[in-house]
Amino acid sequence: MFLTGRTAIVTGSTSGIGLAYARAFAAEGATVVINGFGDSAAIEATRAELAATSGAEAFYDPADMMRGDEIAAMIEQAVQRTGGVDILVNNAGIQHVSPIDAFPPDKWDAIIGVCLSSAFHTMRAAVPHMKKAGWGRIISTASAHSLVASLNKGAYVAAKHGLVGLTKTVALETATSGVTVNCISPGYVWTPLVENQIPDTMAARGLTREQVIDDVLLAAQPTKAFVTPEQVAALALFLCRDDAKSITGANLSVDGGWTAA
Ligand code: NAD
Repeated sequence: MFLTGRTAIVTGSTSGIGLAYARAFAAEGATVVINGFGDSAAIEATRAELAATSGAEAFYDPADMMRGDEIAAMIEQAVQRTGGVDILVNNAGIQHVSPIDAFPPDKWDAIIGVCLSSAFHTMRAAVPHMKKAGWGRIISTASAHSLVASLNKGAYVAAKHGLVGLTKTVALETATSGVTVNCISPGYVWTPLVENQIPDTMAARGLTREQVIDDVLLAAQPTKAFVTPEQVAALALFLCRDDAKSITGANLSVDGGWTAA
């Protein structure tokens, strides 16, 4: 239980990879703040499960990652409730698949807002607390799309590349303060985010569901297997250990060899 006494905030943790991070931190004793959308009874069940796992408190904060004011309030409330913010995971994400000439501007704004600007707002609010404590871990879920592009994902690829640039910059700014700042870049992980883009990809490319899975999603992943949320969370847990204190400003791939190709 090496995270007992630590507070971890995970944005977008009501499902998928974010929930796996929250479970991993709770299993090591952390007080966890979860965030994201979903059915309120299911969210409360998740919150209670996390508290039971950690033996510490667990909170849900409904902040919309499109809103800088709500993000700042989420960080401050976590500090007031728990005494600090030790681990921040920028994980909330959305996707829209469309060629550039048909890409709806509101979808561009939403993807840049949730996948990139939210990390600016969380880091801006959390870094002073981490510096004051002399310890902190900031981890952002980027993507293989932070390193390479795919067709029809202009906003997502731009946001994820930007998230890596922001990470490198804040890593330099915090390098002597006990705070590390890194990205984890998964390949395809089987979560609702991937499931939800299958119909659009089927329509955009005239493919069946099976063709999208085999010929589009797993085509780029040499292992021909989806990454699991738990594998991504295991790396985040390692980044929280003292053994990882020299890893900062990095973008660590968990992509089945995708970006090696
Ligand atoms: P998911 O859809 O299961 O989870 C996304 C989470 O973000 C949910 O909790 C959702 O409620 C939350 N969210 C969305 N909009 C929000 C908003 N405005 N405010 C607050 N919360 C919001 O997706 P996932 O696959 O677990 O994705 C998590 C992260 O991993 C994303 O940043 C995604 O880009 C990244 N990623 C996913 C994959 C993959 O294959 N699934 C691969 C690489 C990177």
